[in-house]
Amino acid sequence: MKYNILISTKSGNNYYYNKNSNYSLIHPVLKYIVELVDCGVNIDNWLNDLPEKLIIENKSFAKTDIVYYYKKYLFFSNNYLFEKNKPTYKLSHKVTPNQIELALGKCNSITFEVTEKCNLKCSYCTYSENFGWFKKRMNKNLSFQKAKNFLNYFFSLSNIIDKKKNLSISFYGGEPLLNIEVIRKIVSYVNLNKSDKTNVTYSLTTNGVLLKQDILQFLVDNNFEILISLDGDEQHNSYRISKSGKPVFNHIIKNIFSIQKKFPIFWKENIDFNTVLHSKNSREEVYTFFKNKFNKVPEISEFSAEGVISDMKKKIESEFKNFDDIENKTNKKSAEIEIIKENLGHYSHRFDSYLSFFNNYTHRLITGTCIPFSVKAFITVRGDILPCENVNHIYSFGTVSDDDIYIDYDKIAKQYNEYYDKLKNKCYKCNFADVCSVCILSLNKFICEEYSVDKEVFSQVIQSQIELLETYPKEYSKFLT
Ligand code: SF4
Ligand code: SF4
Repeated sequence: MKYNILISTKSGNNYYYNKNSNYSLIHPVLKYIVELVDCGVNIDNWLNDLPEKLIIENKSFAKTDIVYYYKKYLFFSNNYLFEKNKPTYKLSHKVTPNQIELALGKCNSITFEVTEKCNLKCSYCTYSENFGWFKKRMNKNLSFQKAKNFLNYFFSLSNIIDKKKNLSISFYGGEPLLNIEVIRKIVSYVNLNKSDKTNVTYSLTTNGVLLKQDILQFLVDNNFEILISLDGDEQHNSYRISKSGKPVFNHIIKNIFSIQKKFPIFWKENIDFNTVLHSKNSREEVYTFFKNKFNKVPEISEFSAEGVISDMKKKIESEFKNFDDIENKTNKKSAEIEIIKENLGHYSHRFDSYLSFFNNYTHRLITGTCIPFSVKAFITVRGDILPCENVNHIYSFGTVSDDDIYIDYDKIAKQYNEYYDKLKNKCYKCNFADVCSVCILSLNKFICEEYSVDKEVFSQVIQSQIELLETYPKEYSKFLT
């Protein structure tokens, strides 16, 4: 593939992309010169023959302007912006044990799966018997001792590597509030044992059924950020049902109104909603419901049939995922924002800041996979230590028990490097290598269906990303920083 790509967006801006400089906004005259050079035109001869004025993109430019931009072109070329050949950096397919240990020491997000129990039986639950991704749920609870052993190990490591930091601790389930006792103990242990320089925030996702006074007071006292799962109004929420199959909507709404009344500031600042988009709701309806009822904008995730056992795939997809319906009812703006979110959710661990998206990546391993623990450490009720909650539990990279903790960084690095070896031949050739958001742990048998060497496909993808950026600059900024 040629490394230079020129993009003209709908709003009339021109961008230059190559593997060294990534995206650069360029002047139309500069773009014109790059195109001429790409076509093999000798620019010195071309300049000699130029008339006093030249029309480019419907605008008239004087010969002096053109000469000015040619000097600019030469300056940028000498400084590698318009490097046409090989990128000046190398992608790598090797992660080292040291990088992984460092990532855990610097990790600023830990999630504890505190229980496998749930008080609901949602029809689309990824932990149901229809999904094969996760180890069978046995209604287990996380013991405090396991959490404590992990935290002791983590604090000892992070106090050496990265004393001063923001640390986010989240609680995950099942329904996490069913093991509120362990949550209370973990919070109290962290508050007592964290370094003075560590700023901790707590969060959890709940179905809202147990948000009652005594639990709420504890959550308020510890400034928890709460995400309540609710799919919209009573009809939209009807896949979320009790174990006996009864609707729970009214019960949850009652709890929500009670939070609003008793803890108005907490309600305003600490409560958000998460909605799963499926065949009974749509983005537009969901936005309208939350806006009118609570003056809030929910986070929206699409129902995912990933991990459904093959016998159930057709049935589940037809029941919960009606793409045409979703597309027809989709609010364009919110749909586009979701695309940005999806893309950038994966990119976020690869960029130091908003500006680095346009500059150089900080991370040069093939694929979009994070270095284990650089995004998060996820501890399951059974004591498996995973790089996040979204990956199959077979990718357990360590274990913590009531007595001990075991993490072998050499083994994890070896395992990752074996995975990278399976993909490297394709990734090094793939046009998406630089903007790849594929997590290697999400691939079926390490076969990547996104692989492409078609320059046109790649140009279209980056063009649509840039156009979204131009349309919603605030959203890009928000997701990246
Ligand atoms: S999905 Fe993959 S890349 Fe993303 S945080 Fe989890 S392990 Fe890392
Ligand atoms: S899209 Fe697939 S093949 Fe291409 S770089 Fe990413 S992981 Fe590799």
